[in-house]
Amino acid sequence: MKCNQVRLNCGTTIPVVGFGTYSWQNDRDKTEEAIQMALKVGYRHFDTAKIYGSEPAVGNALGEAILDGVVEREDIFVTSKLWGSDHHDPVSGLKQTLQNLGMEYVDMYLVHWPVKLKPWAVNPVPNEDDFQKLDLETTWSGMEKCLDLGLCRGIGVSNFSSRKIQRLLDFASVAPAVNQVEMHPTWRQTKLREFCGDHNIHVSAYSPLGGPGNSWGSTAVVDNPIIQAIALKHNATPAQAALRWGLSKGASVIVKSFNEERMKENMRALDLRLDDHDLRNIEKMEEWKIMRGDFLVNETTSPYKSLEELWDDEI
Ligand code: NAP
Repeated sequence: MKCNQVRLNCGTTIPVVGFGTYSWQNDRDKTEEAIQMALKVGYRHFDTAKIYGSEPAVGNALGEAILDGVVEREDIFVTSKLWGSDHHDPVSGLKQTLQNLGMEYVDMYLVHWPVKLKPWAVNPVPNEDDFQKLDLETTWSGMEKCLDLGLCRGIGVSNFSSRKIQRLLDFASVAPAVNQVEMHPTWRQTKLREFCGDHNIHVSAYSPLGGPGNSWGSTAVVDNPIIQAIALKHNATPAQAALRWGLSKGASVIVKSFNEERMKENMRALDLRLDDHDLRNIEKMEEWKIMRGDFLVNETTSPYKSLEELWDDEI
């Protein structure tokens, strides 16, 4: 294990502090500027997705940094994700992503959601008639093809419950290396982490601060009195306490900030150590999932008639 990296079951290593690039404004210049700043601050793991619209900015900023000799391609870790409308052909989906990024490969390619959409359904919030029956076997064999072709160095999933991963493992030739899910002190994913641990699948935590400022986000994590008290005790900030909690559970954390000071603050979570008392107090916090996925559930056209079906009772 390299410092601040963990080894994945596909053989590559992932830096444990990742940089989120989803911003609802999706301003290309601001995103590029933020990535250049993030590189200077020390981030080496960048998270994007076709549906975020941030792939061109990520590719451009990283491409320039590589050309300028600031970093080498081998030293950065780029994740992107297969949107529902590309389930019918993951190889073409990834080729488009690589074109957007101007890269020859991504380090990790994830099935963004266990949801298949019609090929022309490219909105973040699908229309009722966009849904198709999920055919995970075909989707995953396309993901495995991406790996065989060298278009990515690892494949994984996102927003998958334990039961959906188990179903995947029943037929997969290559097990997922990563499951990227919402995870923070008020959505701790205890059961899923145990399941993923048993199967050597790395958990990556998105919205590790609860996504304050997002349309679906919440300040409940950083404003929580338990988190604030832990931060105060260690002369740290609430964001650092929240991030350190995720890291202490063996997860990587994908945190988004386009502000230089907060980028540095978040990176310094690596220097913080929580004690058993802090961890026990966090276990007492009331849990509430923020990204619930209501936009993928309906009683008529979606394969998921309820949130319980989407998350298999892990909600
Ligand atoms: P987050 O990282 O928990 O929160 C981001 C928000 O917190 C931004 O508004 C940011 O504002 C603010 N912030 C950052 N550092 C802070 C600090 N130290 N103190 C106070 N506020 C701070 O949540 P997220 O953006 O939802 O998730 C992060 C990344 O995860 C995304 O960008 C995306 O790459 C990924 N993600 C994946 C999925 C999925 O389905 N797989 C879903 C959601 C997100 P400033 O920029 O102004 O600092």
